[in-house]
Amino acid sequence: MTIIVAKPLRMADLAEAWTDTISRWSGNDKSTVPVAQRAIGQRLIVDLTITEGLITGRYRRPDDAFNDMTIAVTAWTDSQWDAAVAGVATKATHLATLLADDLDVDLDGTLRRRDLDILPDPTELHATCTCDEAAPCRHVLSLAIAAARPLAASPTTLLLLRGRTVRDIVDQHRASRRKETSAADDASAESETERSVVASASAFSRPVELLPKVPAVATAAGAITGWPRSEPPVDSDVDEAALRELATDAVERAWAISAGVADSRLGLAIDVDLARRAVGHVGSSRIIELAKLIDVEAPRVIALATAWETAGPSGLDLLDAPAWFPAAAIMEEARLTIIDSGRRESSVRLEANTITVADKVQYRFGADHQWYRFELRSGHWHLFIAPAASIDDVLARKKQK
Ligand SMILES: [Zn+2]
Repeated sequence: MTIIVAKPLRMADLAEAWTDTISRWSGNDKSTVPVAQRAIGQRLIVDLTITEGLITGRYRRPDDAFNDMTIAVTAWTDSQWDAAVAGVATKATHLATLLADDLDVDLDGTLRRRDLDILPDPTELHATCTCDEAAPCRHVLSLAIAAARPLAASPTTLLLLRGRTVRDIVDQHRASRRKETSAADDASAESETERSVVASASAFSRPVELLPKVPAVATAAGAITGWPRSEPPVDSDVDEAALRELATDAVERAWAISAGVADSRLGLAIDVDLARRAVGHVGSSRIIELAKLIDVEAPRVIALATAWETAGPSGLDLLDAPAWFPAAAIMEEARLTIIDSGRRESSVRLEANTITVADKVQYRFGADHQWYRFELRSGHWHLFIAPAASIDDVLARKKQK
């Protein structure tokens, strides 16, 4: 299974994310954006219209005739829309945000967990143009770039491109809630309208009860003291040290849950869990035992453990994540910053979301928009420095170390 790392949708970056999609659609043709900007500046693109699943427009040719263009976006299926509306229903704020013609990162995350990406992938864009160039032609690409502005100004238009209006979503949400309620209260003779009426005076006149007392959280995890005198049976394949390690881990996880600093960790994948457990053992022979357990080399386990210790799950994700393409400007600016910090330009290589320096250090831009600095040791990339939103901060942290 591959972990797909996708760029989170941020409101301020919406236009940029859309433009990035279009650049990829053009096959990363660097002239796409400047050509489009020129066409937009010269008002060659007219009648730009966005309707359900479709962007249309016309391109004024030098002979003053027009090319008619369409860009169809793959619509979500009914069952995908069911999943989307169920996602919207998980939080009242989602619906409120949609009604304000906005999309929040949180909703984007909720939909992603349902395998729904609001931003279309280039493979989900289908172009036609009355010119005879290969699709997507430069007219269509310019139209698509021109659409960035109306899309950013009215983000729910992206959902319209997936096939439904906000009104449709609200109606579907209401219909499914009505279905749930009527199923639950089938026996009740009351009608939907009657039941939903509660006088505000009676709702607000209810006495407020005292909040329950929350027990104080211990300041640190406890330690195991007493232990049965007898060793586990020899044929049980379990020894005291292993049991002690398991029990200590359970105590620490239980404390972390009670203190609200972590979840149970029971949902972690096996190598992630191994990384977590290996943290305290870097430098000891236990690392070699743990490596044997999952049949990998010890340096790999050390790499997993340091990534976990330095940056938690996101550090681990990035260790094996496939490359992706952030906005070109972000990567180029970082490349120049690294060169300005004293690196020889010829030793700095930019590839997708990674900048490699002298084949020994990598700066990777994560899907969480943080910069991660990796160092090559014993053939494995190690993460020793906490990530930061700016490449300058990562370079400064390296200096402090
Ligand atoms: Zn064309």
